[in-house]
Amino acid sequence: MKEFDVIVVGGGHAGIEAANAAARMGKNTLLLTMLVEQIGAASCNPAIGGLAKGHLVKEIDALGGLMALATDNAGIQFRVLNENRGPAVRGSRAQIDMDRYRIWMRNAILNTPNLTVAQEIVDEILVKNGKIYGVKTNLLNVYRCKALILTTGTFMRGLMHFGPVKIEGGRFHELPAKKISKSLEELGFKLERLKTGTTARIDARTIDFSKMEIQPGDENPKPFSFRTDKKTFNPKQLPCFITYTNETTHDIIKGNFHRAPLFTGQIEGIGPRYCPSIEDKLNKFPDKERHHVFVEPQTLEATEYYLNGLSTSLPMDVQEDFIHTIPGLENAKIVRFGYAIEYDFIQPTNLKHSLETKAIEGLFFAGQINGTTGYEEAAAQGIMAGINAALKIDEKEPLILRRDEAYIGVLIDDLVTKGTNEPYRMFTSRSEYRLLLREDNAILRLGDYGYKLGLLDEETYKRIEKLKEEINRGMKIVNETFVTPNKEINVLLESLGEEKIQNKMEIRKIIGRHTFNKDKLFKLLPELKSFSDEAIEQILIESRYHHYIEKQKQQIDKMKEMLSVKIPEDFEYKGIPGLSREIVEKLEKYRPATLFQASEISGVTPAAIDIIHMYINIKR
Ligand code: FAD
Repeated sequence: MKEFDVIVVGGGHAGIEAANAAARMGKNTLLLTMLVEQIGAASCNPAIGGLAKGHLVKEIDALGGLMALATDNAGIQFRVLNENRGPAVRGSRAQIDMDRYRIWMRNAILNTPNLTVAQEIVDEILVKNGKIYGVKTNLLNVYRCKALILTTGTFMRGLMHFGPVKIEGGRFHELPAKKISKSLEELGFKLERLKTGTTARIDARTIDFSKMEIQPGDENPKPFSFRTDKKTFNPKQLPCFITYTNETTHDIIKGNFHRAPLFTGQIEGIGPRYCPSIEDKLNKFPDKERHHVFVEPQTLEATEYYLNGLSTSLPMDVQEDFIHTIPGLENAKIVRFGYAIEYDFIQPTNLKHSLETKAIEGLFFAGQINGTTGYEEAAAQGIMAGINAALKIDEKEPLILRRDEAYIGVLIDDLVTKGTNEPYRMFTSRSEYRLLLREDNAILRLGDYGYKLGLLDEETYKRIEKLKEEINRGMKIVNETFVTPNKEINVLLESLGEEKIQNKMEIRKIIGRHTFNKDKLFKLLPELKSFSDEAIEQILIESRYHHYIEKQKQQIDKMKEMLSVKIPEDFEYKGIPGLSREIVEKLEKYRPATLFQASEISGVTPAAIDIIHMYINIKR
């Protein structure tokens, strides 16, 4: 019997980050996964990032995770979405070569110190006196551990649907994980079902790209990771293509609704609302004349294309028929058919903010098992579970990122306090503090944690410190320099195509104009010329959004002050209007000492905190 500190089950996006974090934090870690070849496999679309998801990738990077580095190494197209909109809602997205991504991840994992990898299926979770002590695998091996992280993705009792054809499996031609579901049920967890789906993949030789719009990558691609050298970053980029469905496509699909597993009752699990199948889109929006189809290369060799927007579980003859009605795909040959998959998940309200289960000490869940969808959401939970498993073994406080610190904090807080009845994905609108939680400042927000945990190296940390020092110095200049409306400044502003000034003002107000850019900044304040591009970007953003950023910071200070309010030991929750019986029961059971502790209890909503705060003040 072998002993480890941490065991991670599953080598998907969550498991990779969990195993890497725990091992790099010095814990003797074992990764048990079904197929070593599939470590880091992208089950669905060949892309990482996107709106709000790009934020998560950069936060994972700032904590010392792998996803951004793998993307920089395997990316075949890089774009910043919403480039022309405010910095809070910009999102970096990359098409990846799925094979290279997987190989990069597998090599990274197999080269991680303190990390052992074994190709085995975990069948049983071993618990004694409410505490985890190990797992038993399909090869009848027993491995002992102090903490166990489950990241089983879409594999638990996975059932795939290709029209009427049902095949058990966690992903196309991969085994389902069945016994582990039973083991979890025996431990008292209630398992529920969700569903997701994927599209057909097309042989590139059979696509007529001339009938499609071309979508190239950015001219000056930017890497995801702070640790990737910007100067030498020069990936070979491939274009994507755009085409559209039409009336004929829709007629074929609608005419086959009676054969769609989604509508016949064959599929029971709820699917992702924001990534619906084409049959679901046509059912919900019957009058929409056409839908986008993004045609994306799966690898650098571009032999197969992914049809983003056409996820489906319709019968295979229907898939062929409707795909052939789309411009450019008239002669398309399908290499792999689209399908839907149903799988078990566990309500994340079973978890603490550390992602440890409330019921069993030392047992953590991360990724799709918690009801999320998406590689980035999975990886974000994975790194946090890995970090917190390691901290727990060291008897240290868990790392809980607050909602005002990170999208990862928003993600986990949403999951563990509210639970989910449909696959949860991240959006910028889920955050109350969007202007503070930008992609561009993830490293400044979270880099300290990454370094202190031992996940970011000394050199990276020094670069972060230098950047912070530059920004502070730059902002001091910008905040403390005043300009008066004299001839010299107004001639300069005019020459820059800028409006003249009439009154004395902080130079920050001029720099904060939407028309201002780096070149104009250097003309106005030549002393900033020696600053790095990253520092200049922050100075421009902070100047432009100064007022809003300050307002959000004040709100956070107020919230922090409020949460530090002590709750009297004999505080009577019963009878307070607006508090549900469930909340009262929980508060009476846990008797939190402060409003912050109360807010950490699952199910205790921000509205409930406001009410308790008001009553504490009344009773004072
Ligand atoms: P996974 O990436 O699924 O990895 C799970 C890992 O655990 C696998 O390596 C597996 O071998 C291993 N494993 C499971 N059980 C055991 C066990 N008992 N013992 C050992 N190893 C085990 N996401 C989107 O955002 N949009 C989409 O449109 C979308 N469509 C999808 C369509 C399909 C058909 C599938 C399969 C997935 C889709 N996803 C989609 C989901 C996306 O793949 C997941 O969000 C993401 O991969 C979750 O990461 P994870 O690490 O939680 O799990």
